[in-house]
Amino acid sequence: MKKVSIIGAGLSGLTASILLAKEGFEVTIYEKSKKVGGNFTALQFEDHLFEFGPTFFTIPELLESIFLMAGKNIENYLDLEILTHHTHVYFENGDNFCLSTNAEEMIEQLKKVDSTGAENYHDFLAEIKRLYFEVNELSMNLQITNWSKLVKIPIRNLILKLRPFQSLDHFLRKYFENEQIIQLLAKYANRGEMLARSTPAFFAAFLYPILTADVFYVKGGTREVPCALKKLAIELGVKIYTEKEITKIHLKNNQVEGIQINENLSIESDYVLISSAQLLNSDTLLSDFTVVNEREKFIVTGESNLSQFVLLLGLDRYTNLKTHTVLFSSDVEREVEQILNGEFAENPTIYIYNPAFQEPERFKSGDCLVLMVSIPTNDLYSTSYRASIASYRHHLVSELKKYGFDLEESIVEEKVWTSKDLKNRFNSAKGGIHGAISKTFAAAYIRPPVKSDEIKGLYFTLVDTSHPAGSTEALKNGIHLATSIIEEARENPLI
Ligand SMILES: Cc1cc2nc3c(=O)[nH]c(=O)nc-3n(C[C@H](O)[C@H](O)[C@H](O)COP(=O)(O)OP(=O)(O)OC[C@H]3O[C@@H](n4cnc5c(N)ncnc54)[C@H](O)[C@@H]3O)c2cc1C
Repeated sequence: MKKVSIIGAGLSGLTASILLAKEGFEVTIYEKSKKVGGNFTALQFEDHLFEFGPTFFTIPELLESIFLMAGKNIENYLDLEILTHHTHVYFENGDNFCLSTNAEEMIEQLKKVDSTGAENYHDFLAEIKRLYFEVNELSMNLQITNWSKLVKIPIRNLILKLRPFQSLDHFLRKYFENEQIIQLLAKYANRGEMLARSTPAFFAAFLYPILTADVFYVKGGTREVPCALKKLAIELGVKIYTEKEITKIHLKNNQVEGIQINENLSIESDYVLISSAQLLNSDTLLSDFTVVNEREKFIVTGESNLSQFVLLLGLDRYTNLKTHTVLFSSDVEREVEQILNGEFAENPTIYIYNPAFQEPERFKSGDCLVLMVSIPTNDLYSTSYRASIASYRHHLVSELKKYGFDLEESIVEEKVWTSKDLKNRFNSAKGGIHGAISKTFAAAYIRPPVKSDEIKGLYFTLVDTSHPAGSTEALKNGIHLATSIIEEARENPLI
Protein backbone atom coordinates (compact mmCIF):
# COMPACT_ATOMS: atom_id res chain seq x y z
CA MET A 1 0.00 0.00 0.00
CA LYS A 2 1.41 3.39 -1.00
CA LYS A 3 2.14 5.70 1.88
CA VAL A 4 1.09 9.35 1.77
CA SER A 5 2.21 11.89 4.37
CA ILE A 6 0.24 15.13 4.42
CA ILE A 7 1.79 18.10 6.16
CA GLY A 8 -1.00 20.15 7.68
CA ALA A 9 -4.69 19.47 8.31
CA GLY A 10 -6.19 22.41 6.37
CA LEU A 11 -9.15 21.90 4.02
CA SER A 12 -6.95 20.97 1.11
CA GLY A 13 -4.98 18.30 2.96
CA LEU A 14 -8.08 16.85 4.65
CA THR A 15 -9.92 16.62 1.32
CA ALA A 16 -7.00 14.93 -0.40
CA SER A 17 -6.64 12.51 2.53
CA ILE A 18 -10.28 11.38 2.19
CA LEU A 19 -10.10 10.65 -1.52
CA LEU A 20 -6.73 8.94 -1.27
CA ALA A 21 -7.78 6.79 1.67
CA LYS A 22 -10.93 5.80 -0.23
CA GLU A 23 -8.67 4.68 -3.08
CA GLY A 24 -6.64 2.46 -0.75
CA PHE A 25 -3.63 4.66 0.04
CA GLU A 26 -2.20 4.60 3.54
CA VAL A 27 -2.62 8.23 4.56
CA THR A 28 -1.30 10.09 7.58
CA ILE A 29 -1.78 13.78 8.33
CA TYR A 30 0.64 15.62 10.59
CA GLU A 31 -0.66 18.91 11.95
CA LYS A 32 1.58 21.20 13.96
CA SER A 33 -1.30 22.95 15.79
CA LYS A 34 -3.50 21.49 18.49
CA LYS A 35 -6.49 21.41 16.17
CA VAL A 36 -7.21 20.57 12.58
CA GLY A 37 -8.67 23.15 10.20
CA GLY A 38 -5.84 25.56 9.45
CA ASN A 39 -7.37 29.01 9.07
CA PHE A 40 -10.70 28.03 10.63
CA THR A 41 -10.56 29.69 14.02
CA ALA A 42 -12.85 29.95 17.03
CA LEU A 43 -11.70 32.37 19.72
CA GLN A 44 -13.45 31.99 23.06
CA PHE A 45 -13.33 35.12 25.20
CA GLU A 46 -14.85 35.23 28.66
CA ASP A 47 -18.42 35.59 27.41
CA HIS A 48 -18.10 35.76 23.66
CA LEU A 49 -17.08 33.33 20.94
CA PHE A 50 -15.62 34.79 17.78
CA GLU A 51 -15.46 32.85 14.55
CA PHE A 52 -12.63 34.11 12.54
CA GLY A 53 -10.96 32.98 9.34
CA PRO A 54 -13.29 31.76 6.60
CA THR A 55 -16.90 32.85 7.11
CA PHE A 56 -18.35 33.26 3.61
CA PHE A 57 -18.90 29.98 1.77
CA THR A 58 -20.21 29.28 -1.71
CA ILE A 59 -20.94 26.16 -3.79
CA PRO A 60 -22.10 23.67 -1.13
CA GLU A 61 -22.27 21.07 -3.92
CA LEU A 62 -18.49 20.94 -3.90
CA LEU A 63 -18.37 20.00 -0.24
CA GLU A 64 -21.22 17.55 -0.79
CA SER A 65 -19.32 15.93 -3.66
CA ILE A 66 -16.41 15.07 -1.38
CA PHE A 67 -18.73 13.17 0.94
CA LEU A 68 -20.41 11.55 -2.06
CA MET A 69 -17.06 10.45 -3.52
CA ALA A 70 -16.41 8.79 -0.18
CA GLY A 71 -19.81 7.09 -0.40
CA LYS A 72 -21.33 9.20 2.39
CA ASN A 73 -24.16 11.67 2.79
CA ILE A 74 -23.06 15.10 3.96
CA GLU A 75 -26.27 15.52 5.93
CA ASN A 76 -24.98 13.01 8.44
CA TYR A 77 -21.94 15.19 9.07
CA LEU A 78 -22.83 18.84 8.53
CA ASP A 79 -25.86 21.09 8.79
CA LEU A 80 -25.62 23.71 6.04
CA GLU A 81 -28.18 26.46 5.65
CA ILE A 82 -28.53 28.20 2.30
CA LEU A 83 -28.63 32.01 2.51
CA THR A 84 -30.46 33.23 -0.58
CA HIS A 85 -30.20 36.85 0.55
CA HIS A 86 -26.66 36.49 1.57
CA THR A 87 -25.10 39.94 1.93
CA HIS A 88 -26.84 43.04 3.21
CA VAL A 89 -25.20 46.19 1.98
CA TYR A 90 -25.80 49.57 3.63
CA PHE A 91 -24.83 52.85 2.00
CA GLU A 92 -24.03 55.97 3.98
CA ASN A 93 -26.92 57.89 2.38
CA GLY A 94 -29.39 55.46 3.95
CA ASP A 95 -29.93 53.24 0.90
CA ASN A 96 -29.47 49.53 1.23
CA PHE A 97 -29.24 46.64 -1.16
CA CYS A 98 -29.23 42.92 -0.62
CA LEU A 99 -27.06 40.69 -2.77
CA SER A 100 -29.14 37.67 -3.64
CA THR A 101 -28.63 34.54 -5.69
CA ASN A 102 -32.23 34.79 -6.84
CA ALA A 103 -32.25 36.78 -10.12
CA GLU A 104 -35.89 37.83 -9.81
CA GLU A 105 -35.30 39.27 -6.37
CA MET A 106 -32.27 41.14 -7.63
CA ILE A 107 -34.37 42.55 -10.46
CA GLU A 108 -37.11 43.66 -8.05
CA GLN A 109 -34.54 45.56 -6.00
CA LEU A 110 -32.85 47.01 -9.09
CA LYS A 111 -36.19 48.28 -10.40
CA LYS A 112 -36.24 50.72 -7.46
CA VAL A 113 -32.72 52.09 -7.93
CA ASP A 114 -31.49 51.19 -11.41
CA SER A 115 -34.17 50.47 -14.00
CA THR A 116 -31.55 49.96 -16.73
CA GLY A 117 -29.79 47.43 -14.50
CA ALA A 118 -33.11 45.67 -13.88
CA GLU A 119 -33.78 45.42 -17.63
CA ASN A 120 -30.26 44.22 -18.39
CA TYR A 121 -29.84 41.90 -15.45
CA HIS A 122 -30.47 38.62 -17.30
CA ASP A 123 -28.09 39.67 -20.11
CA PHE A 124 -25.54 40.67 -17.50
CA LEU A 125 -25.81 37.27 -15.79
CA ALA A 126 -25.47 35.53 -19.16
CA GLU A 127 -22.31 37.47 -19.94
CA ILE A 128 -20.65 36.93 -16.55
CA LYS A 129 -21.60 33.27 -16.84
CA ARG A 130 -19.83 33.11 -20.19
CA LEU A 131 -16.80 34.85 -18.72
CA TYR A 132 -16.84 32.58 -15.68
CA PHE A 133 -16.81 29.41 -17.76
CA GLU A 134 -14.18 30.76 -20.15
CA VAL A 135 -12.07 31.69 -17.16
CA ASN A 136 -12.59 28.30 -15.58
CA GLU A 137 -11.66 26.53 -18.77
CA LEU A 138 -8.52 28.57 -18.96
CA SER A 139 -7.80 28.07 -15.33
CA MET A 140 -8.30 24.29 -15.63
CA ASN A 141 -5.93 24.33 -18.58
CA LEU A 142 -3.54 26.30 -16.49
CA GLN A 143 -3.98 24.22 -13.38
CA ILE A 144 -0.97 22.56 -14.67
CA THR A 145 0.92 19.77 -13.12
CA ASN A 146 3.91 20.84 -15.07
CA TRP A 147 5.17 24.32 -15.90
CA SER A 148 6.14 23.31 -19.42
CA LYS A 149 2.46 22.78 -20.30
CA LEU A 150 2.02 26.51 -20.04
CA VAL A 151 3.73 27.12 -23.31
CA LYS A 152 2.15 24.16 -25.05
CA ILE A 153 -1.56 24.79 -24.59
CA PRO A 154 -3.40 27.02 -27.03
CA ILE A 155 -4.39 29.61 -24.47
CA ARG A 156 -4.20 32.68 -26.64
CA ASN A 157 -7.64 32.22 -28.16
CA LEU A 158 -9.15 31.63 -24.76
CA ILE A 159 -7.57 34.79 -23.37
CA LEU A 160 -8.89 36.85 -26.25
CA LYS A 161 -12.45 35.79 -25.41
CA LEU A 162 -12.04 37.45 -22.02
CA ARG A 163 -12.22 41.06 -23.19
CA PRO A 164 -8.58 41.68 -22.23
CA PHE A 165 -8.62 45.30 -23.40
CA GLN A 166 -11.79 46.46 -21.67
CA SER A 167 -11.96 47.77 -18.11
CA LEU A 168 -14.29 46.42 -15.46
CA ASP A 169 -15.78 49.89 -15.05
CA HIS A 170 -16.59 50.10 -18.75
CA PHE A 171 -18.03 46.59 -18.72
CA LEU A 172 -20.35 47.27 -15.76
CA ARG A 173 -21.56 50.58 -17.21
CA LYS A 174 -22.87 48.70 -20.24
CA TYR A 175 -25.44 47.06 -17.96
CA PHE A 176 -25.98 49.39 -14.99
CA GLU A 177 -26.33 53.11 -14.38
CA ASN A 178 -26.67 53.51 -10.62
CA GLU A 179 -23.27 54.59 -9.32
CA GLN A 180 -23.63 52.72 -6.00
CA ILE A 181 -24.54 49.48 -7.74
CA ILE A 182 -21.63 49.82 -10.18
CA GLN A 183 -19.20 50.49 -7.33
CA LEU A 184 -20.60 47.61 -5.29
CA LEU A 185 -20.28 45.10 -8.12
CA ALA A 186 -16.82 46.36 -8.99
CA LYS A 187 -15.66 46.00 -5.41
CA TYR A 188 -16.95 42.44 -5.20
CA ALA A 189 -15.22 41.64 -8.47
CA ASN A 190 -11.78 43.04 -7.66
CA ARG A 191 -11.84 42.94 -3.85
CA GLY A 192 -11.12 46.64 -3.74
CA GLU A 193 -7.51 46.05 -4.69
CA MET A 194 -7.71 48.24 -7.77
CA LEU A 195 -9.72 51.05 -9.22
CA ALA A 196 -12.51 49.67 -11.42
CA ARG A 197 -11.24 51.64 -14.38
CA SER A 198 -7.84 49.95 -14.15
CA THR A 199 -9.25 46.48 -13.51
CA PRO A 200 -9.59 44.21 -16.55
CA ALA A 201 -13.21 43.40 -17.48
CA PHE A 202 -12.71 39.66 -17.03
CA PHE A 203 -12.76 40.20 -13.26
CA ALA A 204 -16.55 40.40 -13.67
CA ALA A 205 -16.40 36.60 -13.89
CA PHE A 206 -15.86 36.53 -10.13
CA LEU A 207 -19.32 37.96 -9.64
CA TYR A 208 -20.93 34.88 -11.13
CA PRO A 209 -20.68 32.62 -8.04
CA ILE A 210 -21.61 35.50 -5.73
CA LEU A 211 -24.77 36.23 -7.73
CA THR A 212 -25.77 32.71 -8.70
CA ALA A 213 -24.14 29.97 -6.62
CA ASP A 214 -25.59 29.08 -3.27
CA VAL A 215 -24.01 30.78 -0.29
CA PHE A 216 -24.26 28.72 2.84
CA TYR A 217 -24.04 29.17 6.58
CA VAL A 218 -22.53 26.39 8.67
CA LYS A 219 -24.73 25.62 11.64
CA GLY A 220 -22.80 25.08 14.85
CA GLY A 221 -19.93 27.25 13.63
CA THR A 222 -17.46 27.45 10.79
CA ARG A 223 -15.08 24.98 12.42
CA GLU A 224 -17.69 22.29 11.84
CA VAL A 225 -16.44 22.10 8.23
CA PRO A 226 -12.89 20.86 8.96
CA CYS A 227 -14.20 18.80 11.87
CA ALA A 228 -16.66 16.99 9.58
CA LEU A 229 -13.89 16.31 7.05
CA LYS A 230 -11.67 15.04 9.87
CA LYS A 231 -14.44 12.69 11.05
CA LEU A 232 -14.89 11.31 7.54
CA ALA A 233 -11.14 10.95 7.04
CA ILE A 234 -10.77 8.98 10.26
CA GLU A 235 -13.69 6.72 9.30
CA LEU A 236 -11.84 5.93 6.07
CA GLY A 237 -8.69 5.01 7.98
CA VAL A 238 -6.68 8.23 7.76
CA LYS A 239 -4.43 8.72 10.76
CA ILE A 240 -4.34 12.31 12.00
CA TYR A 241 -1.72 13.47 14.46
CA THR A 242 -1.89 16.98 15.91
CA GLU A 243 0.97 18.88 17.57
CA LYS A 244 3.36 17.19 15.17
CA GLU A 245 5.46 19.62 13.22
CA ILE A 246 7.23 18.34 10.15
CA THR A 247 10.73 19.73 10.07
CA LYS A 248 12.24 18.06 7.03
CA ILE A 249 11.28 16.30 3.84
CA HIS A 250 13.80 13.59 3.05
CA LEU A 251 14.79 13.11 -0.58
CA LYS A 252 16.81 10.53 -2.44
CA ASN A 253 17.73 10.93 -6.10
CA ASN A 254 15.17 13.66 -6.59
CA GLN A 255 12.46 11.51 -5.14
CA VAL A 256 10.58 11.87 -1.88
CA GLU A 257 11.72 9.36 0.67
CA GLY A 258 9.94 10.46 3.79
CA ILE A 259 9.47 13.14 6.40
CA GLN A 260 10.92 14.05 9.73
CA ILE A 261 8.78 14.90 12.73
CA ASN A 262 10.34 17.31 15.18
CA GLU A 263 13.99 16.43 15.70
CA ASN A 264 13.96 12.73 16.16
CA LEU A 265 11.47 10.68 14.17
CA SER A 266 11.63 9.85 10.47
CA ILE A 267 8.72 8.31 8.58
CA GLU A 268 8.94 6.76 5.12
CA SER A 269 6.54 8.04 2.49
CA ASP A 270 5.94 7.53 -1.22
CA TYR A 271 4.14 10.86 -1.48
CA VAL A 272 4.41 14.05 0.56
CA LEU A 273 1.83 16.84 0.36
CA ILE A 274 2.79 20.27 1.63
CA SER A 275 1.69 23.86 1.18
CA SER A 276 4.09 25.91 -0.89
CA ALA A 277 3.77 28.73 1.68
CA GLN A 278 5.20 26.37 4.26
CA LEU A 279 8.11 25.64 1.96
CA LEU A 280 8.74 29.30 1.32
CA ASN A 281 8.67 30.14 5.00
CA SER A 282 11.11 27.44 5.90
CA ASP A 283 14.83 27.25 5.24
CA THR A 284 15.03 23.72 6.50
CA LEU A 285 12.12 21.68 5.11
CA LEU A 286 13.73 21.44 1.71
CA SER A 287 17.02 23.13 1.22
CA ASP A 288 18.61 23.88 -2.13
CA PHE A 289 15.48 23.13 -4.05
CA THR A 290 14.59 24.80 -7.32
CA VAL A 291 10.83 24.36 -7.01
CA VAL A 292 10.96 26.79 -4.13
CA ASN A 293 12.32 29.38 -6.47
CA GLU A 294 9.72 28.64 -9.13
CA ARG A 295 6.91 29.00 -6.63
CA GLU A 296 8.49 32.06 -5.13
CA LYS A 297 8.06 33.78 -8.46
CA PHE A 298 4.33 33.23 -8.23
CA ILE A 299 3.68 33.67 -4.59
CA VAL A 300 6.06 36.43 -3.64
CA THR A 301 5.72 38.49 -6.78
CA GLY A 302 1.99 38.00 -6.54
CA GLU A 303 1.61 39.10 -2.96
CA SER A 304 -1.24 41.30 -1.86
CA ASN A 305 -1.17 45.07 -1.42
CA LEU A 306 -3.91 44.77 1.13
CA SER A 307 -4.02 43.54 4.62
CA GLN A 308 -6.95 43.65 7.02
CA PHE A 309 -7.68 45.48 10.20
CA VAL A 310 -9.91 43.24 12.27
CA LEU A 311 -12.00 44.26 15.22
CA LEU A 312 -13.69 41.63 17.37
CA LEU A 313 -16.58 43.18 19.28
CA GLY A 314 -18.52 41.27 21.93
CA LEU A 315 -21.78 43.04 22.73
CA ASP A 316 -24.18 42.74 25.66
CA ARG A 317 -27.13 42.70 23.27
CA TYR A 318 -28.19 41.62 19.81
CA THR A 319 -28.14 44.09 16.94
CA ASN A 320 -30.07 43.75 13.72
CA LEU A 321 -26.84 43.31 11.75
CA LYS A 322 -27.35 40.42 9.35
CA THR A 323 -24.96 37.44 9.12
CA HIS A 324 -22.97 39.05 6.28
CA THR A 325 -23.23 42.82 6.35
CA VAL A 326 -21.29 45.36 4.34
CA LEU A 327 -21.22 49.05 5.26
CA PHE A 328 -20.22 50.47 1.92
CA SER A 329 -17.81 53.38 1.55
CA SER A 330 -19.38 56.57 0.21
CA ASP A 331 -16.32 57.03 -2.01
CA VAL A 332 -14.75 53.73 -3.04
CA GLU A 333 -12.34 55.39 -5.44
CA ARG A 334 -10.88 57.51 -2.64
CA GLU A 335 -10.87 54.48 -0.33
CA VAL A 336 -8.83 52.43 -2.81
CA GLU A 337 -6.53 55.35 -3.57
CA GLN A 338 -5.85 56.01 0.11
CA ILE A 339 -5.03 52.37 0.77
CA LEU A 340 -2.82 52.08 -2.31
CA ASN A 341 -1.02 55.23 -1.08
CA GLY A 342 -0.30 53.49 2.20
CA GLU A 343 -2.94 55.27 4.29
CA PHE A 344 -5.78 53.97 6.42
CA ALA A 345 -8.99 54.81 4.55
CA GLU A 346 -11.05 57.56 6.08
CA ASN A 347 -14.38 56.11 5.03
CA PRO A 348 -13.61 52.41 4.54
CA THR A 349 -15.95 49.67 3.44
CA ILE A 350 -16.58 47.54 6.53
CA TYR A 351 -17.44 43.85 6.32
CA ILE A 352 -19.18 42.46 9.40
CA TYR A 353 -19.78 38.82 10.25
CA ASN A 354 -22.53 38.29 12.77
CA PRO A 355 -23.33 34.57 13.19
CA ALA A 356 -25.62 35.35 16.16
CA PHE A 357 -28.13 36.69 13.63
CA GLN A 358 -28.46 33.16 12.23
CA GLU A 359 -28.07 31.19 15.45
CA PRO A 360 -28.72 33.36 18.54
CA GLU A 361 -28.93 30.23 20.66
CA ARG A 362 -25.17 29.74 20.25
CA PHE A 363 -24.37 33.29 21.35
CA LYS A 364 -26.10 33.70 24.68
CA SER A 365 -24.34 36.93 25.81
CA GLY A 366 -25.04 38.95 22.68
CA ASP A 367 -23.56 39.53 19.25
CA CYS A 368 -19.99 38.43 18.57
CA LEU A 369 -19.11 40.69 15.66
CA VAL A 370 -16.07 40.29 13.45
CA LEU A 371 -15.39 43.55 11.59
CA MET A 372 -12.86 43.71 8.79
CA VAL A 373 -11.58 46.58 6.72
CA SER A 374 -8.78 46.67 4.20
CA ILE A 375 -5.61 48.50 5.12
CA PRO A 376 -2.26 48.84 3.37
CA THR A 377 0.35 46.19 4.00
CA ASN A 378 3.22 48.61 4.31
CA ASP A 379 4.88 49.63 7.57
CA LEU A 380 3.55 46.63 9.36
CA TYR A 381 5.99 46.99 12.18
CA SER A 382 6.52 50.76 12.28
CA THR A 383 5.75 52.89 15.32
CA SER A 384 3.40 55.09 13.34
CA TYR A 385 1.45 52.01 12.25
CA ARG A 386 1.13 50.82 15.85
CA ALA A 387 0.07 54.28 16.96
CA SER A 388 -2.59 54.40 14.26
CA ILE A 389 -4.18 51.18 15.44
CA ALA A 390 -5.85 52.54 18.58
CA SER A 391 -7.16 55.63 16.87
CA TYR A 392 -8.40 53.62 13.89
CA ARG A 393 -10.42 51.37 16.21
CA HIS A 394 -12.22 54.46 17.54
CA HIS A 395 -12.65 55.81 14.04
CA LEU A 396 -14.28 52.57 12.88
CA VAL A 397 -16.69 52.42 15.79
CA SER A 398 -17.73 56.01 15.07
CA GLU A 399 -18.08 55.16 11.36
CA LEU A 400 -20.61 52.46 12.29
CA LYS A 401 -22.81 55.17 13.80
CA LYS A 402 -23.11 56.88 10.42
CA TYR A 403 -24.90 53.78 9.15
CA GLY A 404 -27.21 53.67 12.16
CA PHE A 405 -25.27 51.19 14.28
CA ASP A 406 -24.33 52.86 17.55
CA LEU A 407 -22.47 50.12 19.39
CA GLU A 408 -19.95 51.81 21.70
CA GLU A 409 -22.10 51.53 24.85
CA SER A 410 -22.84 47.85 24.20
CA ILE A 411 -19.25 46.62 23.75
CA VAL A 412 -18.21 44.45 26.68
CA GLU A 413 -15.30 42.49 25.21
CA GLU A 414 -13.10 43.40 22.29
CA LYS A 415 -9.82 42.80 20.54
CA VAL A 416 -8.02 44.35 17.62
CA TRP A 417 -6.16 42.16 15.15
CA THR A 418 -3.47 43.92 13.22
CA SER A 419 -1.79 42.84 10.00
CA LYS A 420 1.04 41.56 12.12
CA ASP A 421 -1.30 39.31 14.13
CA LEU A 422 -2.85 38.09 10.88
CA LYS A 423 0.54 37.34 9.42
CA ASN A 424 1.53 35.37 12.51
CA ARG A 425 -1.74 33.47 12.87
CA PHE A 426 -2.46 32.77 9.20
CA ASN A 427 1.05 32.65 7.83
CA SER A 428 -0.08 35.06 5.15
CA ALA A 429 2.20 37.29 3.13
CA LYS A 430 2.35 40.67 4.91
CA GLY A 431 -0.93 39.94 6.69
CA GLY A 432 -2.98 39.88 3.47
CA ILE A 433 -5.78 37.36 3.89
CA HIS A 434 -6.94 37.10 0.30
CA GLY A 435 -3.76 35.56 -0.96
CA ALA A 436 -1.83 36.95 -3.83
CA ILE A 437 -2.96 40.06 -5.59
CA SER A 438 -4.75 39.35 -8.83
CA LYS A 439 -3.74 42.39 -10.81
CA THR A 440 -2.50 40.36 -13.68
CA PHE A 441 -4.15 37.55 -15.51
CA ALA A 442 -1.37 35.24 -14.42
CA ALA A 443 -1.74 36.04 -10.72
CA ALA A 444 -5.50 35.69 -10.93
CA TYR A 445 -5.68 32.46 -12.83
CA ILE A 446 -2.52 30.50 -13.08
CA ARG A 447 -2.50 28.20 -10.17
CA PRO A 448 0.80 26.90 -8.96
CA PRO A 449 1.24 23.34 -10.13
CA VAL A 450 -0.01 20.77 -7.67
CA LYS A 451 2.92 18.55 -8.47
CA SER A 452 6.61 19.26 -8.29
CA ASP A 453 8.48 19.05 -11.56
CA GLU A 454 11.78 18.36 -9.93
CA ILE A 455 10.94 16.03 -7.07
CA LYS A 456 8.96 12.85 -7.66
CA GLY A 457 6.25 12.28 -5.09
CA LEU A 458 6.10 15.90 -3.91
CA TYR A 459 2.72 17.65 -4.19
CA PHE A 460 1.48 21.06 -3.10
CA THR A 461 -1.65 21.97 -1.22
CA LEU A 462 -1.54 25.77 -1.42
CA VAL A 463 -3.67 27.49 -4.03
CA ASP A 464 -3.54 31.07 -2.90
CA THR A 465 -3.18 32.72 -6.26
CA SER A 466 -6.75 31.74 -6.98
CA HIS A 467 -9.51 34.23 -6.58
CA PRO A 468 -11.81 34.72 -4.78
CA ALA A 469 -13.32 32.08 -2.48
CA GLY A 470 -10.31 30.52 -0.81
CA SER A 471 -11.96 27.59 0.88
CA THR A 472 -13.73 26.55 -2.31
CA GLU A 473 -10.39 26.60 -4.06
CA ALA A 474 -8.81 24.64 -1.21
CA LEU A 475 -11.44 21.91 -1.59
CA LYS A 476 -10.98 21.88 -5.37
CA ASN A 477 -7.25 21.68 -4.91
CA GLY A 478 -7.60 18.75 -2.51
CA ILE A 479 -9.68 16.88 -5.10
CA HIS A 480 -7.26 17.78 -7.87
CA LEU A 481 -4.26 16.71 -5.80
CA ALA A 482 -5.77 13.36 -4.91
CA THR A 483 -6.80 12.73 -8.52
CA SER A 484 -3.29 13.51 -9.76
CA ILE A 485 -1.72 11.15 -7.25
CA ILE A 486 -4.20 8.37 -8.00
CA GLU A 487 -3.55 8.74 -11.74
CA GLU A 488 0.19 8.81 -11.25
CA ALA A 489 0.10 5.73 -9.05
CA ARG A 490 -1.92 3.90 -11.70
CA GLU A 491 0.49 4.91 -14.45
CA ASN A 492 3.64 4.21 -12.44
CA PRO A 493 2.84 1.46 -9.98
CA LEU A 494 6.52 1.13 -9.10
CA ILE A 495 7.08 4.74 -7.92
C1 LIG B 1 -8.68 35.71 7.99
C2 LIG B 1 -9.10 34.87 6.81
C3 LIG B 1 -10.39 34.95 6.31
C4 LIG B 1 -10.78 34.15 5.24
N1 LIG B 1 -12.06 34.22 4.82
C5 LIG B 1 -12.50 33.36 3.89
C6 LIG B 1 -13.89 33.31 3.55
O1 LIG B 1 -14.72 34.06 4.10
N2 LIG B 1 -14.28 32.41 2.62
C7 LIG B 1 -13.39 31.53 2.04
O2 LIG B 1 -13.81 30.71 1.23
N3 LIG B 1 -12.07 31.56 2.34
C8 LIG B 1 -11.61 32.44 3.25
N4 LIG B 1 -10.29 32.44 3.60
C9 LIG B 1 -9.37 31.54 2.89
C10 LIG B 1 -9.41 30.10 3.46
O3 LIG B 1 -9.23 30.12 4.84
C11 LIG B 1 -8.29 29.27 2.85
O4 LIG B 1 -8.34 29.35 1.44
C12 LIG B 1 -8.35 27.79 3.21
O5 LIG B 1 -8.75 27.59 4.54
C13 LIG B 1 -6.96 27.25 2.95
O6 LIG B 1 -6.90 25.90 3.28
P1 LIG B 1 -5.55 25.09 3.06
O7 LIG B 1 -5.84 23.68 3.32
O8 LIG B 1 -4.98 25.41 1.73
O9 LIG B 1 -4.46 25.68 4.09
P2 LIG B 1 -4.45 26.06 5.62
O10 LIG B 1 -5.82 26.29 6.15
O11 LIG B 1 -3.47 27.17 5.73
O12 LIG B 1 -3.85 24.77 6.36
C14 LIG B 1 -2.48 24.48 6.42
C15 LIG B 1 -2.22 23.68 7.71
O13 LIG B 1 -0.86 23.23 7.72
C16 LIG B 1 -0.35 23.30 9.05
N5 LIG B 1 1.13 23.31 8.97
C17 LIG B 1 1.89 24.29 8.43
N6 LIG B 1 3.22 23.94 8.49
C18 LIG B 1 3.27 22.71 9.08
C19 LIG B 1 4.34 21.82 9.40
N7 LIG B 1 5.62 22.12 9.12
N8 LIG B 1 4.05 20.65 10.01
C20 LIG B 1 2.75 20.31 10.28
N9 LIG B 1 1.68 21.13 9.99
C21 LIG B 1 1.95 22.31 9.38
C22 LIG B 1 -0.97 24.58 9.56
O14 LIG B 1 -0.95 24.62 10.98
C23 LIG B 1 -2.39 24.50 8.97
O15 LIG B 1 -3.28 23.83 9.84
C24 LIG B 1 -9.85 33.25 4.64
C25 LIG B 1 -8.55 33.19 5.12
C26 LIG B 1 -8.17 33.98 6.19
C27 LIG B 1 -6.76 33.88 6.69
